[in-house]
Amino acid sequence: MSTAITLSCPSCLVTNRVPAERLNAAPKCGRCGEALFQGSPASLDSSGFARVVANTDIPVIVDFWAQWCGPCKMMAPVFERAAQELEPACRFVKIDTEAAPDLAQRYQIRSIPSLLIFSGGREIARQAGAMDYSSLVRWVKSHV
Ligand code: ZN
Repeated sequence: MSTAITLSCPSCLVTNRVPAERLNAAPKCGRCGEALFQGSPASLDSSGFARVVANTDIPVIVDFWAQWCGPCKMMAPVFERAAQELEPACRFVKIDTEAAPDLAQRYQIRSIPSLLIFSGGREIARQAGAMDYSSLVRWVKSHV
């Protein structure tokens, strides 16, 4: 028996179950057919975020950012590259705090960028401020 990993599709948000040994084999969503890992962060709104965090067995790395934030813009390609590198071991998600102020409030985001790691629906780590690529990867790997 293989272990099944539960994953929320970043495109249609439907919950998929993927055998653990198939995670690296470019799995596709059973509903919409899109790749479950796209090699880049998924931009989600509040309801999408709630579904992905609740229905994803692998750790979810979240970047809380905003358009007007200079350090966030510098952080964006770093986060993108980390997604390419670390998926499918983790899921990478971006939350625009202007579009989802309820999430920023719920998680008490006081400065951006703020990076949070969720596991099993719970926050397990947080880091405020931009990070360079190797610091980001090291930080993620130390928690997952
Ligand atoms: Zn889908």
